Amino acid sequence: MGGGNGAKAAQKRERNQLQNAKKGPASQLKSNEASKKLVCEWCHLNMMVTCNRQQLEAHAQKDGKPFEACFPNWQPKSKK
Ligand SMILES: [Zn+2]
Repeated sequence: MGGGNGAKAAQKRERNQLQNAKKGPASQLKSNEASKKLVCEWCHLNMMVTCNRQQLEAHAQKDGKPFEACFPNWQPKSKK
């Protein structure tokens, strides 16, 4: 009883060390999505890329312009 526990624990430790070494530096985050900018064509205000159509329409209303005049290039995110 207990004779093999020490060896097992040592093996476990070795394995953990190997796994940690394999991981290496954290993988780079993809920033492509975040780099897309959303700018109102009418007043050139930077909008959050995450804005939904409702929020953008509310902004267009503030400008007194139709949605298409402010964000002609806007596309719904569901496109994949
Ligand atoms: Zn605007």
